[in-house]
Amino acid sequence: MTRKPVTGADVCVVGAGPAGTIVADRLAASGHEVVVLDAGPRFDPDDRIRRQERSIRPSFSRPDVWDGDAERDAYTSSGEKGYPLNHARVKGVGGSTLHWQGMVMRLHEDDFNSRSARGVGVDWPIDYADLRPQYAEAERELGVSGASDNPFAPPREEPHPMAAFPPSYSDSLFADACEELEIAMHSVPNARNSESRNGRSACVGYGTCQPVCPSGAKYDATVHAEAAERRGGDGHRPRTRPAARTRPRIGRGGRLRDAGWRDS
Ligand SMILES: Cc1cc2nc3c(=O)[nH]c(=O)nc-3n(C[C@H](O)[C@H](O)[C@H](O)COP(=O)(O)OP(=O)(O)OC[C@H]3O[C@@H](n4cnc5c(N)ncnc54)[C@H](O)[C@@H]3O)c2cc1C
Ligand code: SF4
Repeated sequence: MTRKPVTGADVCVVGAGPAGTIVADRLAASGHEVVVLDAGPRFDPDDRIRRQERSIRPSFSRPDVWDGDAERDAYTSSGEKGYPLNHARVKGVGGSTLHWQGMVMRLHEDDFNSRSARGVGVDWPIDYADLRPQYAEAERELGVSGASDNPFAPPREEPHPMAAFPPSYSDSLFADACEELEIAMHSVPNARNSESRNGRSACVGYGTCQPVCPSGAKYDATVHAEAAERRGGDGHRPRTRPAARTRPRIGRGGRLRDAGWRDS
């Protein structure tokens, strides 16, 4: 895809995962000209079935499924069990949500004061009540299906944007076992459409959400990359240009110096 350089953009967002693309979409909606750069390519949505086929073949390892040609991160892993970091990240427009599971539980109230409550981690300077409106907004943006059957979940005012998925056959087997063991069982909210919503279909049950949803029923950040881009469709502000590949240069003290880019 050939893209013209943008001069004088108001904001350059580096990284087209959910954080970057939602920010880009919001900024574009409020009249800013935004450029979004990503280290990886923009994957062709029509290739998702092929990626799914790859994902179920034992011969393919995780990074081969989303095989962007971006340089993979160098990393070290301590301890006896290595952590395959590059299996956990997708470099490309959509970021790690391209292969995430999409389970989107809110933090518990006492996760915010974990140090005082359990002596673990740190206490946050904000609490659950501060984030509550943003949680609701994020759930609307992503499209979350869920029920209010979790007795441990923090309080919420509004239902989830979509109804929860009905329990599956394997859920029912699990429920029987939990009942016998007196373990509380509940559903988990999912960024996966239980009905068709905002131009994306309802989940059709491929069951390969992680690492690839061929139908687009599972939320990934290409949704917001495309939404941001559409806002610039008329050639007037706001304009957004996602998806060039970039190599930010880091200057002294680890601060970003500049971000160069080349066309796909
Ligand atoms: C297998 C898996 C399952 C997960 N399941 C869940 C789940 O069920 N629920 C949940 O809440 N979370 C889950 N997560 C975590 C979730 O996907 C991440 O928290 C989320 O994607 C982070 O969003 P982000 O925008 O910060 O970063 P990312 O999604 O990682 O996006 C970062 C983007 O920046 C780009 N980038 C990186 N370096 C550069 C560079 N130098 N220049 C330009 N661009 C660059 C990358 O290409 C990428 O597109 C899962 C993650 C993985 C890997
Ligand atoms: S259609 Fe549903 S089950 Fe299948 S991959 Fe997508 S979200 Fe997952």
